[in-house]
Formats: sequence, C-alpha cells, structure tokens
Amino acid sequence: MITALDIFLVAAALLVLGAGFWVRSAPWRAGRPEDRPGDWSGLLTYLLSHRAILRRGGRGTAHLLAFWGVLIPLAVIILAQFRFLMPSGLSLGLSLLLDILGFLALAGTLFFLGHSVRSSETGGPRRSLPPLLILVFILVTGFLAEGTRLRIDPPEVLWASPVGWLTSSLVPGSPLFMQLMIRSHFFAVLLLVAMLPFTFFRHLAAASLNVVYKNRNPKGALNPTRLGDETPGARTVRDFTWKQLLEAEACVACGRCEAACPASLSGKPLSPRKIMGDILNQMEGSRSRTDDQIPLLEESVSDDEIWSCTTCLACVEQCPVFVEPADKIMDLRRYRVMGRGKIPREAVPLIRNLELYGDAHGKGAAHRLDWVFDREVPVAGDRGSGIPLLLWVGCAAAFHPRIGETGRALLKILQAGGQDFTILGPEEICCGDPARRLGEEALFLELARKNLERFRRYQVREIVTLCPHCYNTLKNEYPRVAADFFPDDGPVPQVFHATEYFLSLLEAKRLAPAFPYKKKVALHDACYLGRINGVLDPPRKLLRSLPGVQLTELERNARDGFCCGGGGGRMWLPEHQGRRINHLRAEEFVRSGAEVLATACPYCLIMLEDGVHSVQAESPPRVADVVELVARSLR
Ligand code: SF4
Ligand code: SF4
Repeated sequence: MITALDIFLVAAALLVLGAGFWVRSAPWRAGRPEDRPGDWSGLLTYLLSHRAILRRGGRGTAHLLAFWGVLIPLAVIILAQFRFLMPSGLSLGLSLLLDILGFLALAGTLFFLGHSVRSSETGGPRRSLPPLLILVFILVTGFLAEGTRLRIDPPEVLWASPVGWLTSSLVPGSPLFMQLMIRSHFFAVLLLVAMLPFTFFRHLAAASLNVVYKNRNPKGALNPTRLGDETPGARTVRDFTWKQLLEAEACVACGRCEAACPASLSGKPLSPRKIMGDILNQMEGSRSRTDDQIPLLEESVSDDEIWSCTTCLACVEQCPVFVEPADKIMDLRRYRVMGRGKIPREAVPLIRNLELYGDAHGKGAAHRLDWVFDREVPVAGDRGSGIPLLLWVGCAAAFHPRIGETGRALLKILQAGGQDFTILGPEEICCGDPARRLGEEALFLELARKNLERFRRYQVREIVTLCPHCYNTLKNEYPRVAADFFPDDGPVPQVFHATEYFLSLLEAKRLAPAFPYKKKVALHDACYLGRINGVLDPPRKLLRSLPGVQLTELERNARDGFCCGGGGGRMWLPEHQGRRINHLRAEEFVRSGAEVLATACPYCLIMLEDGVHSVQAESPPRVADVVELVARSLR
C-alpha cells in the first residue's frame, strides 16, 4: 500500500538526484567551448551490446549482469504492477524473470564488491564501495521480503520464484518481518537514488554522456591548440574544453588504460588513470576558486609523467567509456613547451634541425637525394605539375642509413609494379609529426603549410609513404590544416601506406612474389598503422603472399599491439627511468620463437633492431620491414 509519505519521499529523492547532478556537472560544463555532435543512438547500441565493456573478461561480464540485472527488474517491477490484467502464464513468467535477473544482479554486484575490497588501496574502485553495499542490501532485502511472503502464503506454483522459495526456508513466517524488509528495501532504493550524483555510480550518467559525445574524428588526428596571445595547451583545468573535463568525470578508474600503457608497464612514472584522476581532483577543487587561485596542472602532473608518453593510444583503445588520456597529456606538453619554454634537453637538437633544415636529422635539402644517388628517380622540380602519385620519402628513409635500404626496396616494388611516381626531392621537408607531438604546434603548422603549398603547386593527386607517422599526419591532420590555410582549395591528396598500396598492386596481379623465404616471421603492428589507423590486414596479407613465409602472431598484436617506444617524439629522447620499451617488445618476440621480426614502420624498425640486439647479443634475429621482404621476393 503506497502512502502519501512514500510519494513525498520518492519526489524528494528525485529532487536531490536532479539537483545533485546539476551541481556535480557545473565544473565540467564551465569548460572551454567545443563543438561536439552527439549520437544518442550510439549510446543505445553501446548499452545493448556492452561490447566495449565486455573486452575485459570477468569484470565486463559482471558489469553486464549487474547492469541488466538492475535495469530489467526495474522495468519488470513496473510491469508487475499490472499483473492483475495479465493472463496467469505471463504473470508467472514475469515473476520467474524477476527472480533470475535479481539473482544475476546480486552475483554481478558481489563480484564488483569483492574486486573493490581487494583493490581498495589503488584509489579509484574504493569509491564504489558504499553504493555497492547499498545495492547488495537492496537485492538481499528484496529476496528476504519475497521469501517471507512465500512462507506466509505458499503459492500453488513454486517454479515462478526459485530464489524466493529458497530464501523462504531461511526466514520467519512473520508479517512484521516482511514489512520490515519491504520498508528497508524501499528506503535503501530511495537512498541510492538520492546519493547517485555523489557516489561512484554517477558514472552511469557521466560515462553515458561521454559515449554520446565520443570522438568521431580520425583517432590519430590531434586537435589544434590556441596560439598567439592565448595560453597554448593546458595550464590549469580551466584550459580544457567541457568535453575533456567530462572525460575526467566519466573515468571509472578501472585501470585498463594503465594495464596496456607501455610507459606504465616499463616502470616509467606515467599512469593514464592517474592523469585522469589528477584532472578530476583539480576540477573538483576549482569549483569556488577564481582563475588566479586554482592550482597549476603541473603541481599534480610532473614533467617526467608527460614526457614518458609515446602517444601510442593503447590507453584510448582500451578505455571502456571512450576517455582519451593521451590528448590531455598532449595539452599538458603544449603548455610546458610553448607556454613555459620547457622542453627536454635531448629534444632541443631535433627542434632546431626542424626549424633550420626542415628535417629531423639536420642534413638539409642538399642531401635529400643522397639515398638514391645511384638511381634514376623522377623528381617533381624536373617534372612539373600534375603528379598522379607522389612517393613521400620521409626523413628516416632519406637520411637514416638503415631506413634508406627500406626506401630503395620500396622503389624496386614501385618500379616492378610499373607505377608512374615522383618524389619531391630537395623540396620535401618533415611532415611535422615529431614537432607536433613534442608540443611545438606552431612549428608543425609551418612545416605543414609549406608541404601543402607544394602539393598544390604540383597538383598531387595521391601519396604513398613508408612511414605510419607521416601517413597519419598527411592523411588525418593535413586536411584540417589545409582547410585553415587554403579554404578555397579542393580536397587534399589521397594518402596510402606502402603496405596498402602494394596489396592493391598484388591483388591487381601487378606484383608477383616468386623467390621463397622459408622463415617463421612474426609481425609487429606499428601503433600509428594498426591501432590508430586500422591498417592491420595489408601487412599480414603481403607477408602471407610470400612463398615459404610462415606468419605468426606476437602475444600482443593487432589493435592490442605493444608500442616499440619510439612514438610521440620518444625516438629522440633516451629512456632514463624503468626498463626500455623496445627491450620488452624484443623479449616478447624472442618468446614467440619466430626467426624474423617484420614491421611496417621506420621508427619501429630502428627501435626493435636495437631491442633485439640488446636481448640477443650473440646472434640477433633479423628485423625487417614488410616492404623489404616483398622486394626480395620479386624477380
Ligand atoms: S581512462 Fe578509461 S580505461 Fe583508464 S581508468 Fe579511466 S575509465 Fe578506465
Ligand atoms: S598514449 Fe600510450 S604511452 Fe601515452 S598514456 Fe596512453 S598508453 Fe601510455
């Protein structure tokens, strides 16, 4: 029997819930503006499938059970109020469903409770203890009330309430006890509803909103930052946009990002979970403070933390609620580099080379053709405009002696496939990836603008490149830069990675690998190719097409691949703390039992060659680019 007091209490709980969420969301709503289209239907798919959450075995399943085990009974309880209108079969079916789901919800909640207790020293999950305890109390009192009802008034059909039937043997047949359980159950539900915005369960709202507004741009494209008179990057939490701050609120501190982060795993002082927690703490602490009073982000996040990041985006890939710690780290770097002039000492020569010579190696335009000194290669300056296919060489192939070999293998394949290609030669400068990822946004824009001008001048239609970093920058970042600098132009050239391009030649039967290579080959997925740009099949298909090759996978592969340690400008920064990331990857390769480690990225090749030499100094196995293996198999 529902009383007026009950209705008043329900209304009060809902009022506290609404007001709580409004107050709680104020700090992230006050973030800088950002245009983000929402997709509510995407949220529905996400919740129905639970796909992103289920990637983490046991905890994912427990979340699924607890989520549906609470939500469906809620709907069924409402439906059950109209049982008197239903045929008895349906009414009994509803009762059975309610019992089973309630039991599954209890199992899922107890699993999470156990996990929270076990990991309470790690920070995040401890916050979930009070609401989980209340949820267990709600479910248990619900079953006890049902058991008492069945004991007092045994039904004709027992199968419709199996859990209630079991509990009926444990409880007294007392109407007073039943009332006590019902009221306790009811008050606990109201308490949980009213507490929701102030407990860990608020992630139900914040994480759902984050799913609605998740990033739908290409994963590898960094957002531009403010330049000129404004503070670049993030000095305090107020420099983040509302979406970036919402992510801090949505983070459930599950630690999946940390478990996949190469910096964390190699003992560096970086945890993407901690970064999100620091931002959340500062956001909560900034509520009633003026801009002058709020703490600087660098008081919570050290230089060592932000410079440990390889921008591999493993954290982004793993996050079940689409939080992106890496873009916060990039904004922290940008402020320290451009706002404070603080850049690691070892990165200074690289930046100077890019500024003075336009390449990462400091060799300059006069040496851009050294890698092909003995070959006839068409150069744009000689050919003039109207270039159907530009071979974007990249600084590594042009200047690094080992990668020069890969570049020449690439030439061999293009020529074998009868392709009409051209290079920019002395007019090519760095695409700007290292500058941008080291926080030098203005330098990146300058390099990008110059390259885009050349693409326009020579009317380049398609680009093929060896380097996934160049590929990502040209394909995903240049379109936005071009739209800002040359708004009246048409689309920028279409960009292909060499493995994509060569696979299309192979499928068109323009390449015919013939010489056998009888080796067991393991493929290392470059982060900027596989995880970030989804180019997973082309290198595998190319390797499988080579006669004699036995392709094997490393423990961590494809989208879950492990970084070589060279991204995010880390190629130029020695690792002073923890173990070296390339050594960890090389050990994984040695464990695989493969004879050759193949990759499709100059950075990975350099890092992994160094890694396997350190791990197996006696007879280090071969590390090769997929392009080199394809080229050696051609007649
Ligand atoms: S960022 Fe995502 S993966 Fe990392 S702790 Fe937060 S919710 Fe978990
Ligand atoms: S981008 Fe990679 S290195 Fe950086 S925090 Fe994420 S997982 Fe760690």
